[in-house]
Amino acid sequence: MPDSSQHCRTCPSLVDPFGRHVTYLRVSVTDRCDFRCTYCMAEEMTFLPRRDLLSLEELDRLCGVFIGMGVKKLRITGGEPLVRRNIMWLIERLGRHLETGALDELALTTNASQLARHAAALHAAGVRRVNVSLDTLDPVKFTAITRRGRLDRVLAGINAAIAAGLVVKINTVALRGINDDEFDDLLRFAGTRGCDLTLIETMPMGEIDADRSAHYLPLGVVRADLARRWTLEETDYRSGGPARYVRVKETGRRLGFITPLSHNFCESCNRVRLTCTGTLFMCLGQDDSADLRTPLRAGADDDALRAAIEAAVARKPRGHDFVIDRDRRAPATARHMSVTGG
Ligand code: SAM
Repeated sequence: MPDSSQHCRTCPSLVDPFGRHVTYLRVSVTDRCDFRCTYCMAEEMTFLPRRDLLSLEELDRLCGVFIGMGVKKLRITGGEPLVRRNIMWLIERLGRHLETGALDELALTTNASQLARHAAALHAAGVRRVNVSLDTLDPVKFTAITRRGRLDRVLAGINAAIAAGLVVKINTVALRGINDDEFDDLLRFAGTRGCDLTLIETMPMGEIDADRSAHYLPLGVVRADLARRWTLEETDYRSGGPARYVRVKETGRRLGFITPLSHNFCESCNRVRLTCTGTLFMCLGQDDSADLRTPLRAGADDDALRAAIEAAVARKPRGHDFVIDRDRRAPATARHMSVTGG
């Protein structure tokens, strides 16, 4: 079979109606997760039937088409990507695009529960950066937030990743009344391991059992508070994502802020998101999508898939309009973050 990633070297890259080049694809490889974080999922979740999921071969094919259209960065996410059976097969397959130079970066977002046993293989496949979600360093609180996770496993995963040579970034969702007393500890934790830390505002995605607005914490408040104890130096460093970074003088590491609610970051958005069912979302916070599974399973050739992707990117909206307030109880999108991938 021809290699789709090689096809389009001379074609124009994917550009949306606002002139933004789409060079970053996030791929959610499963909607399943071994955790049930309270702000992310309901306790009882109905997961997709397996036949709806793209096979690993189908995911590989679609990723190849995107890479052929100018995608340079690919992030594997979920659900929890490392709970998908044989996920290393896909990651190793995608690693070949790093070898050819078609892809600049293959990254992973994980809760790290399974990271200890996969860290060395991830590095061998060409993965160099891993984002690990960690909202607390308190083992009891950890199990309460995740409803079932074990902190010691996650810490072992982080240590194994660092030992394997992976650059680990810690992502923490800032939750009023839950972990807002821990940001100093998390900064120290990340700093002593040579990791950057990014704080994220909670986003209104998918029904959960609780009221998200009760725990919403604008990061401007957090930053002002941290600045009383830490020297936060301005930097123009950008990771290619939505975070704005400062350098923490005392640790020498960066601290990022992802503020979709208090400060919209859409003007520089370079990404689209593919779900495990082959649905392409052009914006994390909007519902418009394109079904790539139907043409894929109907035997579409690469030209037809490219046409479907181009048509979708031509509809990429200017931005999302997340709002969290107590009067508007419904989430901005019906789907959970675990469907689209964080
Ligand atoms: N299982 C992987 C993990 O834990 O990183 C990848 C998927 S998870 C959905 C990706 C990220 O989204 C996690 O950092 C999680 O904390 C975050 N997340 C989930 N729901 C969120 C929400 N409603 N608002 C903000 N972040 C959320």
